[in-house]
Amino acid sequence: MAVLEIRDLHVSVETDQGTKPILRGVDLTINKGETHAIMGPNGSGKSTLAYTIAGHPKYTVDSGSITLDGQDVLAMSVDERARAGLFLAMQYPVEIPGVTVTNFLRTAKTAIDGEAPPIRHWIKDVKSSMKNLRMDSTFAERNVNEGFSGGEKKRHEILQLELLKPTFAVLDETDSGLDVDALKIVSEGVNRAKENTNLGVLLITHYTRILRYIRPDFVHVFVNGRIAEQGGPELADRLENEGYDRFLTDEATV
Ligand code: ADP
Ligand code: MG
Ligand code: MG
Repeated sequence: MAVLEIRDLHVSVETDQGTKPILRGVDLTINKGETHAIMGPNGSGKSTLAYTIAGHPKYTVDSGSITLDGQDVLAMSVDERARAGLFLAMQYPVEIPGVTVTNFLRTAKTAIDGEAPPIRHWIKDVKSSMKNLRMDSTFAERNVNEGFSGGEKKRHEILQLELLKPTFAVLDETDSGLDVDALKIVSEGVNRAKENTNLGVLLITHYTRILRYIRPDFVHVFVNGRIAEQGGPELADRLENEGYDRFLTDEATV
């Protein structure tokens, strides 16, 4: 059974003002098939955690470890992490001028699998995933994220998730900026991946709304660079009623 383990992770970022510590000892274990929600206020370091798992060069790991089935993820390049089965849906997906969605997906799939997907199956898979995500077929020939609306960018992230079939997916605020219909469509995509591939999910969100559609097995409250409390789905309901104030106050007294 595949497992992603994060141990006492400390991460800092280089800023114009110097080195800024952000993550202050994160511990998290995600088994394949599990969904873990990370909820927390803005600026608490949620995206930093996502980028560190994916291998973004701007974030420096000062101490701690990330392993995938015991393999040292931090020693892997970004490409190696993707090939090992890690996937990140970014909070702010980037434009790739001159690269169409079709070419991007096929190149990514080929890089991850180590061989090009058989063309007829592949075209069928892309079409059916796009249909599931209610993406117009003209989308395939557009440049990645160029002129995409917020909702279209998020759908394109989930399209990658469906086609690349990772073992673990980190979804960084995939819900933000989506209206209810788009939220349902995107959530259905994630749930399909969970059912079809027994995906492990780290669902980062600011709001409880998406958790009505993607049910978490565990909820972690993330404050000031670390997990302040963890529990089951009921913790999300509590946050919905109480907000993060209680945790912020607690943190201030530490
Ligand atoms: P969240 O996703 O929870 O909103 P982030 O991880 O984006 O939090 O940011 C945590 C803190 O780190 C914030 O204070 C943010 O300004 C800072 N930070 C994150 N990335 C950078 C960066 N690349 N350069 C400068 N500061 C950063
Ligand atoms: Mg933020
Ligand atoms: Mg963020």
